[in-house]
Amino acid sequence: MNCSTTWPCAALPAADLSTRTTMKVGGRVAWLLEPATPEEFREAYLLARERGHQVRVLGGGANLLVCDGELPFTVLCTSRMGRIFRPGTQPEDGADGAPESGSTADPEREPAPLAQLEDLARVAPVPREDDPRLVAWAGASLPGLLRTARELGWSGLEGLVGVPGSAGGAAAMNAGGRWGDFWDVVESVRVLTPEGELRDITRAAAKPSYRDGGLGENIVLGVVLALEVSQRAEVSTVMDTYLREKNALQPVTEASSGCIFKNPDPELSDGRRAGQLIDECGGKELRRGAALVSPRHANFIINSGGAQAADVFTLIEDVRDLVAQKTGLQLATEVRIWP
Ligand SMILES: Cc1cc2nc3c(=O)[nH]c(=O)nc-3n(C[C@H](O)[C@H](O)[C@H](O)COP(=O)(O)OP(=O)(O)OC[C@H]3O[C@@H](n4cnc5c(N)ncnc54)[C@H](O)[C@@H]3O)c2cc1C
Repeated sequence: MNCSTTWPCAALPAADLSTRTTMKVGGRVAWLLEPATPEEFREAYLLARERGHQVRVLGGGANLLVCDGELPFTVLCTSRMGRIFRPGTQPEDGADGAPESGSTADPEREPAPLAQLEDLARVAPVPREDDPRLVAWAGASLPGLLRTARELGWSGLEGLVGVPGSAGGAAAMNAGGRWGDFWDVVESVRVLTPEGELRDITRAAAKPSYRDGGLGENIVLGVVLALEVSQRAEVSTVMDTYLREKNALQPVTEASSGCIFKNPDPELSDGRRAGQLIDECGGKELRRGAALVSPRHANFIINSGGAQAADVFTLIEDVRDLVAQKTGLQLATEVRIWP
């Protein structure tokens, strides 16, 4: 049932979150709200807060584990906010939706709505070579962004090939890997603060780090990406090469949440990454119900069909205990856990 009467956007009551995460586990929330624009998102957020609801933000659910059972919060999902477009002409009032690189926006000034920027599908007023930037709303899919960059022959996102999820999730998590991180090409993000205000935050202000966009409690509504003009064939070749390598190493066709643990400090682990440590400790033997450590990549847990969130959480603790017992190292989780 899609019951939108009591919310300013599409709203799903008694929503099952297991269908919204790539691990395919998790319980239900009383409301899952699906705004179609950043403005709708803000309205829905403010109304939920006014009604005393705790709010959680869901992107593509690709780095998220949700507990079983009834969950005590309202979920705002960005999946319908999928537009990708190019920065356009200055709005009438001179407020630029895409702040200058390296500058922090005036917090007193209300940023222009992201919808005022030029749509990619329309005739672009600026020659593309002069401004290889893209604006993406938070729910734009990361693979979709890469496809757009590839089509335009713009370089910078190749290292994110094969990473599922949304632009907002990638900014919040600073998604990436050995070939680069999302924030390498982020000029600024537009966020909704916990108080319900709009802010533009530059890379310099966010100070992103390993798997952390540095945005705290702020919710990403959109991102401005500064790419580099290249050739379509070159961008394609690099993406295809990285993707082949990634597909050979990771269980990309199975239900998972990507890497479960962060890589430990290389000085403490003799340069060994989390997956290698788990493998060397014999972790690939571990399973709980239908949740098992991937035989292909030991830092992935797979739902082989019908696993409960509780199975996955117990298995995470089994793996952590095994590594701690054998090496003395405590692995920290990369995946986000609700509640
Ligand atoms: C097969 C596979 C391969 C993967 N490979 C990689 C990889 O190589 N590198 C890598 O870094 N990750 C990888 N991941 C993990 C995942 O794809 C990334 O972390 C991705 O950026 C998560 O985005 P999402 O939209 O799915 O976020 P979600 O899983 O929906 O959310 C993750 C966290 O971000 C928060 N969040 C989501 N959207 C917003 C928003 N708009 N504003 C503020 N907070 C928000 C959520 O509240 C949650 O805390 C992989 C996952 C899978 C399943």
